[in-house]
Amino acid sequence: MTRKSRITSEIDFGRDGKQQCFLRLPHSIHRSAYGWIAIPIIVLKNGTGPTVLLTAGNHGDEYEGQLALMKLCRELEPETVCGRIIMLPAANYPAVIAGLRTSPIDDSNLNRSFPGDPDGRPTAAIAHYIESELLSIADFAIDLHSGGSSLMYLPSALATPSEDDQLAATQLNMLRAFAAPLAYFAYPGGEDRTMLAAANRAKVAAIGTELGGSGTASVQSVAIAERGVRRVLKHIAVLPDVDVGQDPLPTRIMEVCGSDYYVYSPDYGLWEPLVELGDDVCAGQAAAAVYCPQTPWREPVLTHFAQSGTIICRRVPGLVERGDCLFHLATDCSP
Ligand SMILES: [Zn+2]
Repeated sequence: MTRKSRITSEIDFGRDGKQQCFLRLPHSIHRSAYGWIAIPIIVLKNGTGPTVLLTAGNHGDEYEGQLALMKLCRELEPETVCGRIIMLPAANYPAVIAGLRTSPIDDSNLNRSFPGDPDGRPTAAIAHYIESELLSIADFAIDLHSGGSSLMYLPSALATPSEDDQLAATQLNMLRAFAAPLAYFAYPGGEDRTMLAAANRAKVAAIGTELGGSGTASVQSVAIAERGVRRVLKHIAVLPDVDVGQDPLPTRIMEVCGSDYYVYSPDYGLWEPLVELGDDVCAGQAAAAVYCPQTPWREPVLTHFAQSGTIICRRVPGLVERGDCLFHLATDCSP
């Protein structure tokens, strides 16, 4: 038997108009015996048409998507919508309020928690609600991320390709419509706990983003988020008349083919990057040198790229532990 979510709200998903209130996630703790966590939700519906789910704050320290959705939800009027838009600008609300990747309540990562558990800790309960109650009624989804506190990305849109050819073609068209400077297909390698994996299970055409990072947002990265969301909503005809400004340059379509396109620190220490974001590198090339501050005269440990490609992501903090991701690569898709 499928267990039902314990999250409730005053939202009537079938009602036309604009509704904004809070999902109520029961959270009985010492300071609040009958309390609930209030997760903001906005729903705009007008007549019949597709449903699109827009999420940000899946990771609390990734800000472009949160800003873009907070601005969009204040601006949109239901008369301009054809179908339904559901927005969660602070999907893992406890993580958002703390400015952390993971929830400080349960130390959990929402994007490794799907399909979730209605009786689990808060992050698992949120994942379960999104998959069972929201993705189940959606046709399209955009899950807005960036590199967070520990990573910096070239501004990207991405998709985990659906096994359904038609959905995969729709994902590619959404990536092109989003028009980030680059877009890539990320092959999941068995990772089925992400929101994009949940969307694929639900047969929802979904894309994500990695818009920047370093624990902040920039003029450029917020603009790419805002423009990209609007352009996709226009492309899928949910906001047919929205102003999307001038046509951007075509997006560079790439792919991340496997785990060996990632480079990890081989040791604890201070890492010296030997290449930078956007560089093209060759298999075997040195990526970083890790120095030991406790024993400065010790030879640094070098790490190398296993594959050739373009660096689309790098680590931000200077201190590393063995196993921290330093870089990852993408390669151009063959035309
Ligand atoms: Zn993220």
